[in-house]
Amino acid sequence: MNILITVQEVREKVQEWKRAGLRVGLVPTMGYLHEGHASLIKEACSQNDRVIVSDFVNPIQFGPGEDLDAYPRDIEHDRKTAQDAGADCIFHPDVDEMYGSDFSSFVDMTGITENLCGKRRPGHFRGVCTVVSKLFNIVTPDMAYFGEKDAQQLAVIRQMVQDLNFAVQIIGCPIIREPDGLAKSSRNAYLNMEERQAATVLHAALSGAEDAMRAGERQISVLTGMIRNTIESRPLARVDYIEVVDSKSMQPVSEMNADVLIAIAVYVGKIRLIDNFTWKIQAGRI
Ligand code: AMP
Repeated sequence: MNILITVQEVREKVQEWKRAGLRVGLVPTMGYLHEGHASLIKEACSQNDRVIVSDFVNPIQFGPGEDLDAYPRDIEHDRKTAQDAGADCIFHPDVDEMYGSDFSSFVDMTGITENLCGKRRPGHFRGVCTVVSKLFNIVTPDMAYFGEKDAQQLAVIRQMVQDLNFAVQIIGCPIIREPDGLAKSSRNAYLNMEERQAATVLHAALSGAEDAMRAGERQISVLTGMIRNTIESRPLARVDYIEVVDSKSMQPVSEMNADVLIAIAVYVGKIRLIDNFTWKIQAGRI
């Protein structure tokens, strides 16, 4: 399978496909592909004639002191994983190709980006919106695929597409987990054996809250307290945030009267992991 390095190569390839009347799907990633990414690629392949996976560790979405340099990379592994999932090519630019020395334009967003990861990682979503805008302009996909694991990112991208009139349909894909419930993530590769075991606490804490909601619990302070207690019962785990927000606006809710997202970020050792679940009122579950 082809690995395209330059914007020009991608443009030529996509033009060729579009001239032939083919639908193009895009799966943006930072590489080190796992089954979560593969599920997005498979979904893209089921809805498009051609699928491009972008594989780029985007420096401008990392803050100072974050894991940009350590972020795992393995393009040969990615080539195989993307190919096995059915992708047609990978776009794997270097940093200079995406951000020339005179790069000066950024896409910023208010509102949705101000809580959860946006609050904890200043500048993160500015980096995400900027790189995804560039990818949309380079690839001009008909459809683009994002994981619900990064629920705030998905909401941000939907808002950006609406606000800036990108002609692309955004598809959200469910969270893929390890057998013990840990959400698959490239960052799981950082965990040592003890941390990997402790990392199961994210899903365990959220599942506990979900069970309590099914049993009728509606008080947000009780639910967040339960989640905190479960996480803090693990010596290696430390809460970064536990938030209950409206699933579209990402603004905190005081009552369970809309679809809510319960999102958490937890340090396991030095590794920051995120997880979430959405409680849908329309499904008649409340
Ligand atoms: P990343 O490479 O971590 O930036 O992720 C690229 C895309 O894959 C994002 O849209 C993520 O939300 C999605 N993704 C990552 N992990 C998972 C997972 N476990 N399940 C579903 N989607 C995922």
